[in-house]
Amino acid sequence: MVKSISTEVKKRNLHSCSCDSIMSDGLPIQPHTQILVLNNSYEPINITNWKRAIVLLIKQKAQVLSSRVIRLVNYIRIPFAKIVARTPSRAMIYKRDNNKCQYCGATRHLTIDHVIPRSKGGLDTWENLVVACSSCNVKKSDKLIENINMKLARKPFAPYNKVQFTLSYAEVPEWQEFLFV
Ligand SMILES: [Zn+2]
Repeated sequence: MVKSISTEVKKRNLHSCSCDSIMSDGLPIQPHTQILVLNNSYEPINITNWKRAIVLLIKQKAQVLSSRVIRLVNYIRIPFAKIVARTPSRAMIYKRDNNKCQYCGATRHLTIDHVIPRSKGGLDTWENLVVACSSCNVKKSDKLIENINMKLARKPFAPYNKVQFTLSYAEVPEWQEFLFV
């Protein structure tokens, strides 16, 4: 145990040089905030907490672009499935649909509707979930829209990149320029 602690201290001392340069002008990133991580290609790949961001900087795996943005030194390949959330949260569906009923445009008494009802095998996917007001939800019930006089404002879609999707709604001015890299 003692040995492992001293090894840890040694490891830290090895890094002290880069720590000092990182800390010399105060923290280069804003503490207690979420930090955007860009791939080496500037593509947004993650939003992380500031402590993890500091670790990446100390390990020299990333460089600071601004107080809320770091960029990886090396390009990393990320499987598509990791970038797009397969099962969206309710909040994500509300955001994608701009908090509007996708059948009538109402902005109050909103719920989530399965376009193809669960009872007919509809899944909890980006392509099958839309925002609907409670009256449209009741009207549609477990029917298919082809069979009733209801129409979707647009075809429900999965955002290409979940991080970009989150960015587009985050109120962090420093993140906006990386939205459509
Ligand atoms: Zn409606």
